[in-house]
Amino acid sequence: RRWGFGLAGELRQAAARDPERVAVVDERRAVTYRDLLERAGRLARALRGTVRVEPGDRVGVLCRNSAAMIETLVAVTSLGADAVLINTGLSGPQLSTVAREQQLRALIHDDEFELPKGLDGIGAARLDELINEAPPGELTPPEHAGRTIVLTSGTTGVPKGALRRTPGGFGPLCSMIDRIPLRAGDRVLIAAPLFHTWGYAGLQIALALRATVVLRRRFEPVAVSAAMVREQCTAMIAVPVMLQQLMEQVPAGRRPPLRVVAVSGSALPGGLATRFMDRYGGVLYNVYGSTEVSWASIATPADLRAAPNTAGRPPHGTRTVVLDEAGRPLPTGTVGRLFVGNEMLFDGYSNGTSRERHHGLLATGDLGHLDAAGRVFVDGREDDMIVSGGENVFPAEVENLLAGLPQIREVAVIGVPDARYGERLAAYLVPQPGEILGPEQVRDHVRRHLARFCVPRDVVFLPSLPRNATGKVLTRDLPR
Ligand code: ATP
Repeated sequence: RRWGFGLAGELRQAAARDPERVAVVDERRAVTYRDLLERAGRLARALRGTVRVEPGDRVGVLCRNSAAMIETLVAVTSLGADAVLINTGLSGPQLSTVAREQQLRALIHDDEFELPKGLDGIGAARLDELINEAPPGELTPPEHAGRTIVLTSGTTGVPKGALRRTPGGFGPLCSMIDRIPLRAGDRVLIAAPLFHTWGYAGLQIALALRATVVLRRRFEPVAVSAAMVREQCTAMIAVPVMLQQLMEQVPAGRRPPLRVVAVSGSALPGGLATRFMDRYGGVLYNVYGSTEVSWASIATPADLRAAPNTAGRPPHGTRTVVLDEAGRPLPTGTVGRLFVGNEMLFDGYSNGTSRERHHGLLATGDLGHLDAAGRVFVDGREDDMIVSGGENVFPAEVENLLAGLPQIREVAVIGVPDARYGERLAAYLVPQPGEILGPEQVRDHVRRHLARFCVPRDVVFLPSLPRNATGKVLTRDLPR
């Protein structure tokens, strides 16, 4: 099959081949491929006429998951402008910083977002008003389609723009289908936010396959589960914390006909993977990747049954290796720095900086190891490793152990400065409703299973953990 050029090109091909197929179902409507393209065209005329978007401009898109958001992305890029996907969880000051750093000319937003003051010089427009202002007529397509720029999650600071030379690159993107049996005719609920690399990748693949995408503005587990039953969803693209919420909040009952549940964005705890498959069957896929490398490895249900904590194996066309500090390959079982090579690597951040490269491989910023079967294990981010009394501790190891306690619902472990040991471990726990648990019980459990230096000295109970819009724990916001 010929791959199209960017989201707009891909959609045009799909609309030419299958105009009447439903492309997107959201809370408000179901839109066919032809109508999606037609509405995107109207929106492009409105953007040109009202907001004066020109080829080469950068336009921010601040929307919850909806058909209108997809139409906006197609409209902006088919004007030759770059669409910058903005995280809906940003605070006002963060949004201003991102707008400045990404040099936005305009910002298109959902009606529910109030824009902060100080976005001077940026043409802001409400999506619902724009769509009604489209002048009639045809647009001449630009010489080059614009790109969609995806920002990093901002787990470690202000989200950074990841640039890729090619606007689309669906061929390599579809290497995912090598491992995950998505196909034409699937009805895919994309629960992960479309502004994040994982949700956006899911969207690209679904449209390339001419699947039907089901969207909800928010992830409310009971409503989302009901929507999946009603829409007869065969696949779900999510982040791990959503699986936990589905398990806890949705009573057993009618199940959607899911064949594929693919998660990415943060570590999938092995215990959760096993419990989820016990309930929903062998449908779970764990995708390890980042905004910079796309995906590095994919675990199938069989991989997760054999090794519940694994991130699986690199798909076709991807090389994922473990290197030491000097860039030499490390033997099986030894923890080192994870590097990835594939055709989807980013070219650099929009501020001109990049990431370390080694013989065409890109540093992920994560530490990990391989097992004898060649499966990847992500032990944690390089920056998160705790060095306590000279011993290295990965927070995820302690988190996974504590998450297995039935009284505990959520857990995060970090290192805090310590006069004697350099760093000591602090565990933040959200108990299951009605459960009472003491700090000493927690320490005892760790003492029984892990090394002495893995025992958290500080044990803090919280009603919930601070998370960003992609479900990652914001460790910098934990109370000290
Ligand atoms: P920032 O760079 O702004 O701090 P971020 O790194 O969180 O944000 P993303 O690109 O969304 O931005 O996150 C990628 C990181 O998430 C990976 O490097 C890895 O640490 C973690 N990650 C993603 N998927 C998995 C997975 N399946 N298992 C373990 N860790 C994962």
